[in-house]
Amino acid sequence: LAAATIITGCSISQGSEQKVSVEGNQEVESLLSQMTLEEKVGQMAQITLDVISKGDNVYSSYEPLQLNEDLVRKAVLEYHVGSILNTANNRARTTEKWFEVISGIQKIATEESRLKIPVIYGIDAIHGTTYTAGATMFPQEIAQAATFNRELVRKGAEICAYETRASAIPWNFSPVLDMGRDPRFPRIWEGLGEDVYLTSQLGVEMIKGYEGANNDISNPHKVASCLKHFLGYSVPTSGKDRTPTFIPEVELRERHIPAFKAAIDAGAHTVMINSGIINGTPVHANYDLLTKLLKEELGFKGVAVTDWADIDNLHNRDKVADSPKEAVKLAINAGIDMAMIPYSYDFCTHLVELVNEGEVSMSRIDDAVRRILTLKYELGLFEKPVTDYKEYKAFGSEQYELAAYNAAAEAITLLKNKEGILPLSKGTKVLVTGPNANSMRSLNGGWTYSWQGDKVEEFAGEYNTILEAIENINGKNNTTFSTGVSYIETGKYWEETKDINSAVSAAKGSDLIVLCLGENSYTEKPGDLHDLTISSNQIELTKALAKTGKPIVLVLNEGRPRLIKDIEPLVDAVVQTYLPGNFGGDALADILFGKVNPSGKLPYTYPMYANTLVTYDHKPSEEQNKMEGVYDYESDFAIQYPFGFGLSYTTFSYQNLKLSKDELGADEEFTVSIEVSNTGDVEGKEVVQLFVSDHYASITPDVKRLRGFEKIALKPGETQTVSFQLSGRDLAFVAKDLQWTVEKGGFSAMIGDQKADFNITETKAFGPKDQIL
Ligand code: BGC
Repeated sequence: LAAATIITGCSISQGSEQKVSVEGNQEVESLLSQMTLEEKVGQMAQITLDVISKGDNVYSSYEPLQLNEDLVRKAVLEYHVGSILNTANNRARTTEKWFEVISGIQKIATEESRLKIPVIYGIDAIHGTTYTAGATMFPQEIAQAATFNRELVRKGAEICAYETRASAIPWNFSPVLDMGRDPRFPRIWEGLGEDVYLTSQLGVEMIKGYEGANNDISNPHKVASCLKHFLGYSVPTSGKDRTPTFIPEVELRERHIPAFKAAIDAGAHTVMINSGIINGTPVHANYDLLTKLLKEELGFKGVAVTDWADIDNLHNRDKVADSPKEAVKLAINAGIDMAMIPYSYDFCTHLVELVNEGEVSMSRIDDAVRRILTLKYELGLFEKPVTDYKEYKAFGSEQYELAAYNAAAEAITLLKNKEGILPLSKGTKVLVTGPNANSMRSLNGGWTYSWQGDKVEEFAGEYNTILEAIENINGKNNTTFSTGVSYIETGKYWEETKDINSAVSAAKGSDLIVLCLGENSYTEKPGDLHDLTISSNQIELTKALAKTGKPIVLVLNEGRPRLIKDIEPLVDAVVQTYLPGNFGGDALADILFGKVNPSGKLPYTYPMYANTLVTYDHKPSEEQNKMEGVYDYESDFAIQYPFGFGLSYTTFSYQNLKLSKDELGADEEFTVSIEVSNTGDVEGKEVVQLFVSDHYASITPDVKRLRGFEKIALKPGETQTVSFQLSGRDLAFVAKDLQWTVEKGGFSAMIGDQKADFNITETKAFGPKDQIL
């Protein structure tokens, strides 16, 4: 049994010997043998499109993109730059425009450069092809997770791969596998929620969708995926983006590594590195994480790319390098293969000097370049550097839009439905109000047609806002609108204004209020919050509307769970839409009026208080309140809604939970089965969730852990048996010696309200390399 590497020592690399290297194919080796040092270093550089349209060190303004051939020549011929990212001016372009831009770059790279190496273009197409006009925008990852539907998630990635290639772009900086375990983190909606099993399972589906089942990315309908952001990015101590965190190794291995490991085992081609600092060391300078863990232990053979300007950040922000050149040395020696520079060529100059001075070894450079060239070969870029948009007839098709609609319809989660107020009957006099009621921007969230999602309204009119979708079903005559609170744009960011009186008077003439609250779009640091509570204007609006005595359906449209404790008791129904994408308005209206039965489940614990941010897989001591009569103070574990929760318009019952064995060895397989019945009047989908718990262990066990889920559809009166295959591995945890271990003793399996106990008869440690989830 191999011992787990200790990975969280503060080991900043100082030219450590390169032990891991990949093997290139013959063409790659032959190219490598002809390359000068400058050509190799250039391959390791990634610049932004601004640099070849406006010049280096120029941040461009929001204006039409004009490729400047002289600047392309400077990048590709003088500095031998191997990669370009994003879009100048952060703006959506037609597939035709993308073709023109990328063909222009590739023509110079493959016809005029000495070795004719194509450039690789990368982009953040994280819920559809972000920067292409007319692309199909899916729900964001957090909403996709709420579907608990592997097939829908895979399909979304497949379509995104196709439309990204239709835009001539072969490399997608997705999926995000950061664990959403802290709702304060402004990027929580980019990931798949708080649970490591759900994230691992759906992350693998995304890899299959992007890269194809056999990872043949030379297929012109597929892209290379990029796992973000390795490792432990999403749990900064302050809750703010790119601020430090401390994560014990046992927790890193238990919760943060498995989804990356599963995706690497599924063949993912690239990884992007966490911009932050873990345990005192910036990840970009951490040899233990990037080389010992990622490349040696997890066996990652692809390209490790930095995040935005993160080599410079080692000097400018994180202060572990006393000069920009020292920063390059630390990062490359730690295991970085490609630098997202993004605005100046200093990286190239510094790295050439460092190799000449013996501070970075030629074998490290060769290893990085071999990985990059292999990626370009596998993508087929040497044979066909640009894919032609004219060959992509299904781009933006109705069939693709239907897939995005279906994902939204299965994501939306019904959290409260007092006295079955929902579904509504058509023709109800409805007031639609709130800042999110008539906005495509808030439905989509960040990374939609621009970085902050603030250019979405340019495409408004093509898709329905919540208001428009409700009007379509309920009739304009029966639907009134008054915004109550509005988001106003302040450059990249937004603020709120209010006109509560108008909304209150409009409510008086209605039978029911659909109150759409939440957030406007944001991502990264601009989304940092001082307070997780929903805004005071929105609370004021809710309280004023509640005074009218009209029933309120609260629709949440938010990237993270904003606290609603003070207003939740005032409303009759609560529907969480997350960031459901361009078809979210339609899907929501269909749910409100009963055309679709809701089936989404929360992929995170919805907190009630800012000081009680817990995940469902917590330790028993978080639930002291269960000691009734002993404590007389408010519950320790007070949450708004639990992980995995979501109501339906029908009811389901669970019975006959059965285990195929109740005594088993550590590697023995067993089956857990359950009968699920639809006991209501309408057809519905249910997510059957299997949790396990360990009764006693050498490290306090979590109260429960998800180890299986299946989404099934049941007609009224129908019963289905659902079975899950498990083995001792599914009951393992990371023990003090950092090995995944199953310890003998008692366990429980739990599905719905059913529970069965069983015994494991032996203790066994699995190696760190074993696939656990
Ligand atoms: C983000 C990454 C993204 C990159 C390129 C960074 O600021 O953290 O997630 O892929 O920019 O746009």
